Amino acid sequence: MLLLVQNTPAQGPTGPASRPEREGTDAAPRAALADKVSTLNARYRHHSATAVMQGALEDAGNIALVSSFGAESVVLLHMAAVIDKSTPVLFIDTEMLFTETLVYQNDVSERLGLSNLRIIRAADIATHDPDGQLHKSDPDACCALRKTAPLQSALGDYDGWITGRKRFQSGTRAALDFFEVEAETNRIKINPLAHWAPADVAAYMEENRLPRHPLVARGYPSIGCMTCTTPVKPGEDPRAGRWRQQDKDECGIHFVNGKMVRRKAEA
Ligand code: SF4
Repeated sequence: MLLLVQNTPAQGPTGPASRPEREGTDAAPRAALADKVSTLNARYRHHSATAVMQGALEDAGNIALVSSFGAESVVLLHMAAVIDKSTPVLFIDTEMLFTETLVYQNDVSERLGLSNLRIIRAADIATHDPDGQLHKSDPDACCALRKTAPLQSALGDYDGWITGRKRFQSGTRAALDFFEVEAETNRIKINPLAHWAPADVAAYMEENRLPRHPLVARGYPSIGCMTCTTPVKPGEDPRAGRWRQQDKDECGIHFVNGKMVRRKAEA
């Protein structure tokens, strides 16, 4: 099943993204969630990424995999497909993506037999970014409009979500656990690849003969929107091509220590 979801946040581009939906959460449920996450981390401490993924889908409630269908996304998508092809997969189409990403999303979904893909788009782009130039004047507001708000709205149906974040990717991710509490929303966030190195990702793709995003071979080790991603030179940080020349490192869909992360200094 492929579902196209258009979200209709009630506020402008900066409102909904900075104010996740499940707010006003009580201390008691949050403490219970923290206990649950602590138990899951202890249970799966020495387990493989696949076991963590399986555990998340079986033990953590109603869970979705959020995927950008980027450079390394196919690893988690393959794990999900092997465990259960009907795992909900949320893909945010910002309508600023590379054509190659859209083609790759279609090809990979078909090849892996993913049967519960949900394509998420913001419904109010014409109002807040009619000429598609918001990424130049206010990239944080653009990410809020096109990514964060639609994702938070779509996640309202779930108890938690699976991400492809890894410790090696940046300072903001250096202490990632497999399971985390997203305190702002009272959801569980699961990072099955938290401990993986680039070589582990490459080996998994090779062993399972998984297709690479075509832009990787053209110098894009990290792939976001077309307007905000440039190729990376040898020796540069893999994420150096994201928002190059700007004081921005993340799109804002993740929180660290209670703060929405958009810059390295916010870790
Ligand atoms: S990555 Fe760029 S174009 Fe995409 S949502 Fe963020 S600011 Fe807008």
